[in-house]
Amino acid sequence: MVENKADVVIVGGGLMGAATAFFLRQRGLSAILLERDLVGQGATNASFGNIRRQGRFLKQLPLANRSRRLWGDLNRLLGEDAEFLASGHIRVAFREEDAATLEQYKEDSAPYGLHLEMMRGNAMRSRFPFLSPEALMVSYSPHDGHANPRLAAPAFGRAAARAGARVIENAEVLGIIKDGVDFVVETKGKGNFRAPMVQVSAGAWGRAIARALGEDVPLVARAPQMAVTEPMPYRIEPVMGLHSSLPGEGVYLRQVKRGNIVFGGGNRSFADLVTKRANLDPANTLKQLPHVARLLPPTAKLRVIRTWGGVEGYIADDIPIMGESGRQAGLFYAFGFCGHGFQLGPGVGATMAELIATGQPGVEIEPFSIRRFANGFEEPPAADKPHHE
Ligand SMILES: Cc1cc2nc3c(=O)[nH]c(=O)nc-3n(C[C@H](O)[C@H](O)[C@H](O)COP(=O)(O)OP(=O)(O)OC[C@H]3O[C@@H](n4cnc5c(N)ncnc54)[C@H](O)[C@@H]3O)c2cc1C
Repeated sequence: MVENKADVVIVGGGLMGAATAFFLRQRGLSAILLERDLVGQGATNASFGNIRRQGRFLKQLPLANRSRRLWGDLNRLLGEDAEFLASGHIRVAFREEDAATLEQYKEDSAPYGLHLEMMRGNAMRSRFPFLSPEALMVSYSPHDGHANPRLAAPAFGRAAARAGARVIENAEVLGIIKDGVDFVVETKGKGNFRAPMVQVSAGAWGRAIARALGEDVPLVARAPQMAVTEPMPYRIEPVMGLHSSLPGEGVYLRQVKRGNIVFGGGNRSFADLVTKRANLDPANTLKQLPHVARLLPPTAKLRVIRTWGGVEGYIADDIPIMGESGRQAGLFYAFGFCGHGFQLGPGVGATMAELIATGQPGVEIEPFSIRRFANGFEEPPAADKPHHE
């Protein structure tokens, strides 16, 4: 069989893989994107849609800032609209101890170029009149917001294809082997693909592929759980999150223009890598509801019309795997985005493409290197942790 050849083969067409394919073409490299199902059908499709920088691991902010700039320029870059809206993002504290950690984060993140506004009392209530009476302080990030997770990855995939990438759906990768200077990537039913460089961006399935290539990581698959209510009149512009140190309270919500409230947070459910299903636990939604109503009291009267989840990869230290392999030249990883990869997606694509094309990533990604697990690790507990957005 004739093998298909390119500069780079990308395994997995979620937001990370599709964005990398697009930016590789911008840099003049040929790329083949292999997606087992349809582009964007994995965790990306299930995302809440938060384009949030505040609250992130500080060393991730340079990457998040790069991504935020790209979100603002996406329509021009892709020629398609992923409905990014810079509506602002607020974290709301109900207690002084939680307000103190917001203040601390403001100070710590300022050197990274994130400028947060703290508000209390009248200033807070006149700016955000819909806030709960319990609200003590908000941390406002005016340039963050939300985008449509159903549109973003397919838009990147189509733009990559228009720019000359080969985007192949229903192409499950079965194995990757090294053959001289090239990797040979074998698929189920779509033939073999050959390239001197390969990127693994297979989301929660990245662990199995990396392990087969000799680099295991402590990833577990979990299913953060989202829901949407019936509509109410549109008046909530910013994305809102309840910032709380108490387990289970950390919920978040946003209102879409047609009025529905989308919310998430609390415990994650069981995710099955074999069936690719996120198994929803109705108890999780029931536990979220009172906290959502505390954050935005009018929601107490709304009915939930739909719930969903997605299969996401969580690394034990809650930061992703990104960068070069520690073992094989030409092999790159971008997976395991721990429930916070949607905002990062465009930046991950641009950074991986820059790294692959030039050998330099353009922003610091060393903390995300797979090499941090080269000396072994403890298997992460199967027990759940709350999903904070
Ligand atoms: C419910 C939910 C809510 C979230 N909310 C937010 C949010 O508000 N803000 C935020 O920043 N992040 C959020 N996230 C996280 C974010 O959506 C993910 O981190 C991000 O989309 C991951 O993108 P990805 O490309 O790495 O993975 P995926 O989108 O899962 O893509 C991986 C792709 O690889 C493919 N694949 C796997 N194995 C193979 C194979 N062998 N061969 C070929 N293809 C393969 C899969 O089919 C899949 O399409 C949320 C996640 C979930 C699940």
